[in-house]
Amino acid sequence: MRVIPFGGVNEIGGNKFYVEARDEGLFIDFGISYATKREYFGGFIRPKKYAFLASLLRCGVIPAISDIYDDNLFDPLGLSKEILQSSIRLNTLGVIISHPHMDHYGHLSLLKDELPIFMGESTFKITLTRELTKSAKTVEDRVFLDRERKVERFRTGMSLNISSIRIIPIHVDHSVPGSYGFVIHTPEGSIAYSGDLRLHGPKSHFTHEFTERIQHEGAQTLMLEGTRIEESNDITEHDVFLRLVEIFQRAQHGLVVVLTGITDYDRFISIANAAMKCSRITAVPLRMAAMLEVFYELGMLPKELLPGAGNVVAYIERKGSGSLELDRNYDRWERNYVNQLREKGADPIFDVDLSRRQNRYVMVMNSPDDVFDLIFVKPSEGSVFVYSSSEPHNEEQEIDKQRVENWLRVLGMSSIQVHASGHAGRTELIDILRKTTPKKILPIHSEKPSLFNKLVQEAGIDCKVVEMSRCSELRL
Ligand SMILES: [Zn+2]
Ligand SMILES: [Zn+2]
Repeated sequence: MRVIPFGGVNEIGGNKFYVEARDEGLFIDFGISYATKREYFGGFIRPKKYAFLASLLRCGVIPAISDIYDDNLFDPLGLSKEILQSSIRLNTLGVIISHPHMDHYGHLSLLKDELPIFMGESTFKITLTRELTKSAKTVEDRVFLDRERKVERFRTGMSLNISSIRIIPIHVDHSVPGSYGFVIHTPEGSIAYSGDLRLHGPKSHFTHEFTERIQHEGAQTLMLEGTRIEESNDITEHDVFLRLVEIFQRAQHGLVVVLTGITDYDRFISIANAAMKCSRITAVPLRMAAMLEVFYELGMLPKELLPGAGNVVAYIERKGSGSLELDRNYDRWERNYVNQLREKGADPIFDVDLSRRQNRYVMVMNSPDDVFDLIFVKPSEGSVFVYSSSEPHNEEQEIDKQRVENWLRVLGMSSIQVHASGHAGRTELIDILRKTTPKKILPIHSEKPSLFNKLVQEAGIDCKVVEMSRCSELRL
């Protein structure tokens, strides 16, 4: 068996692992490598449409592999064909996706339609909703829209037979619904893949099921994520809930605003429950409301937290000219969705409503630039802004956070950070190692793979750490 990491080693995210036996193989994830992409693109420097694939290939943001990319769509000048002519050729059976985060599935958009994609039922619905409700769509953003993909969907515990390779997806606890780890059996050996996981969230039993299954299936090589290998504090989602209750109570007559990710369902549940406890209604942007409907459909959200059920309401953000005329300024899906909400008596609200009754609401935002909406809401004294996503981890995010802080100063709002990570910390990783007792570990999704040696020592298990480097094959 051989493993070729085309992304996801010595970096957080960008996972693209090719696992092969007897001359056929599969990609495990095909995510965007943000770290590499930021080196070449950002600000005013964006890839041109006519050289999209070629420019990404040329600087190594995506790996040069023949016959996997959609060069009809992305290569009108034939530039990438030239680059790919002498590149590695693989007998690829398809791509299997662990969960709906862009650093794991985002660059599926560049692959040709004929390449089969295997993904969880929830991952499919979440990625599709994300695309349908996004206003600005570049070629890079579109995995499914206007494409004819071959998608096979799976659920936890199923066994997928893809030619001679058998894959068992097992759900894990992470910050988005539908996250999976895999046990992969090939004719030349077995390997387990963690995806992104943690043990301190509300679904920690999912991760335990995964680690038990690794043992049961006898996989002795483990590809394990190490995003937070250096961190030992493990704030749980329940801690976040308790902190939010405290903050919401202290805000008294002011408005509470919470900035959080659109797909972090555990966080949304903590926010909405804390709001209920403090007799506030949670107001979410339309796009998040549409996402919550999907979570409910998937059985991941209780009915009382659906938009319009009394505790949660959708709010319509201003856009376009700024007038609230649906026909003029809003996309078709927004108009349809607002009509649907109105039909079931769940009328959405506007910034004027939030402004008028600030002590009634917790306003949720999904993007730092939504901070401008607060100019119209005019937060009253005592209003508070809660950052409830991960701390900035690059320079651009630092600058953005400083900009938000500047706006909050103008608006007279205080701010606070309350967050529990989607990734296992040091002690949880040790726990996972003791439960799975692998003979070999391949560190992935980590900027510090060398720290795995100490981790193994501390776990007290007999295990070899095998570090990998991008694009160089590893024989197992
Ligand atoms: Zn990730
Ligand atoms: Zn993730």
